[in-house]
Amino acid sequence: MTTTATATGPAGAATTATFTADPGTDRVLTGDRPTGPLHLGHYFGTLRNRVRLQEQGVEMFVVVADYQVITDRDVADRLAEHTEDLVLDYLAAGLDPDRATIFAHSAVPALNQLLLPFLSLVSVAELNRNPTVKEEIAHSRQSAVNGLMFTYPVHQAADILFCKANLVPVGQDQLPHLEVARTVARRFNERYPNSGGEPVFPQPRALLSDAPLLLGTDGGKMSKSRGNSVALGATEDETARIVRAARTDADRRISYDPAARPEVSGLVLLAALCQDRAPEEIAAEIGDGGAAALKRTVTDSVNECLRPLRARRAELAADRAHLRRVLRDGAERANAIADATLAEVRSVMGSV
Ligand code: ATP
Ligand code: MG
Repeated sequence: MTTTATATGPAGAATTATFTADPGTDRVLTGDRPTGPLHLGHYFGTLRNRVRLQEQGVEMFVVVADYQVITDRDVADRLAEHTEDLVLDYLAAGLDPDRATIFAHSAVPALNQLLLPFLSLVSVAELNRNPTVKEEIAHSRQSAVNGLMFTYPVHQAADILFCKANLVPVGQDQLPHLEVARTVARRFNERYPNSGGEPVFPQPRALLSDAPLLLGTDGGKMSKSRGNSVALGATEDETARIVRAARTDADRRISYDPAARPEVSGLVLLAALCQDRAPEEIAAEIGDGGAAALKRTVTDSVNECLRPLRARRAELAADRAHLRRVLRDGAERANAIADATLAEVRSVMGSV
């Protein structure tokens, strides 16, 4: 693998803008929870990068993390529909099921079994400290925190390591989880050395985009569950309505200053990403036009940018059976790999 800029941060993070994968050695795992339709945060945060990596010829696995839906809610609402809709968004964005293995982790038993040895490798104190888990607890719809919420990052380590992925395109909120996956891999390899020499698991690293934390219309992280997102599949009118309701501030002059003006800057950045231009340039162009002009620019930019994706999405949506077939084929491929990894894990652990 080659990086032109060697800015590695937490979780060994590299930034995709400066990253070229090596199809000979790199393997990618990414995914999402089927909690609702994908939004612009996903698109600019990870989805575009996935497509870019696919085009670089890297082997790719995309997990629909269906068990993880019940970390922060009592029931997984409309699970089958949300799962198929995720696949729809993936395909519309350009993921190719012939090249990318798209599967739901509940359909891959051996992947989930990795959770048992992995859980023994992290302490309760470590799980307790995870800032993303704390943040998700704060936004949870449950009155009490359940055990699956705490073990979420370890389950995610199983998602990543079952296929021995070494690259994980994610948003910034996932960096603490990636750190757990790296710890699990390292400790497993130390505790269970492979007599053949090669350690069982690679050290996975995060791959951040140049928009690792896109803000929603309320100025907080754009999230499916927080009612602050523009869905990729939204209509142009829905997009206009959502953007119009976005929070701004009292200063009429539009500027790009993420620290002092998070809400306005989030909108400016969104227009900039859609137009592939610098946010400062967009802000200067709007100048004294105020929030109304900013919102018009954002709406037009988003609708323009997503038009081809939305057209493909509408076509693909007519064939739900195809979406289910993609998941079935993906699960078959993922199961073969997970079975082999679990056999190797049991062997180095001395299980018979
Ligand atoms: P939920 O609210 O149900 O947790 P979500 O919107 O946070 O949904 P996830 O399925 O949890 O979406 O996240 C999937 C991937 O998308 C992760 O890699 C995450 O980092 C990335 N992602 C989610 N929201 C954003 C965002 N606002 N900006 C950048 N990346 C994001
Ligand atoms: Mg989330």
